[in-house]
Amino acid sequence: MSIAGNIESFNQSLAGKHCKLIAVSKTKPCSAIKEAYDTGFRRFGENRVQELVEKYQSLPRDIEWHMIGHLQTNKVKLIAPFVALIHAVDSLRLAAEIDKQAAKNHRTIDCLLQVHIALEENKFGFDGVELVQLIEGGKFDEFQNIRFKGLMGMATNTGEKHQVQTEFKELKKLYERIVALPPRNNFDFQELSMGMSSDYQIALEEGSTMIRVGSSIFGERK
Ligand SMILES: *Cc1c(COP(=O)(O)O)cnc(C)c1O
Repeated sequence: MSIAGNIESFNQSLAGKHCKLIAVSKTKPCSAIKEAYDTGFRRFGENRVQELVEKYQSLPRDIEWHMIGHLQTNKVKLIAPFVALIHAVDSLRLAAEIDKQAAKNHRTIDCLLQVHIALEENKFGFDGVELVQLIEGGKFDEFQNIRFKGLMGMATNTGEKHQVQTEFKELKKLYERIVALPPRNNFDFQELSMGMSSDYQIALEEGSTMIRVGSSIFGERK
């Protein structure tokens, strides 16, 4: 199917659900993004800062840009002026830099905390137990130019549905646990970013509010 057709079919399957689609356009040309844009779609995700900045500069300004990949602290300043949501905050050090750059740009930047839920070691993110301790210990309280909107996780890359399901359930449980903590003024948990092309259906069943889908919209990447 065409990119526009794929966007349309995701719109239909998500209609009435409390879940947003992030179209992951990494490695794809601006023309592919424009094709999705022309259907009225506005929410795109990239995982490399350089590519994100170039696309931001070339494409219409009303696009909502999501930084979904691992973010190095020295590159935060390049996206701080315009990024809509940073999905993968995985350290206090990164949060501190985002907070600083947000202040410089007179913005509050929305962020998700990435949690390591997969079996693979090479995936980033906080340990769930440790994250709760950090939040309860007030370690995020100083970041007043960030709004922490929820959690993000990536499941193990496996065809075993049960494994993926268990990991998404674990993330949802952690989310509920954090929501139940005493309120903090820079926490406004509403989002659970989980699910990609291979596992978004499972993620939807487990309560995802944001699926990040690339290849099922734009085709396989080289
Ligand atoms: C590439 C990527 C996706 C999308 O992957 P697909 O399998 O193409 O849907 C989702 N999330 C992150 C963090 C990614 O890097």
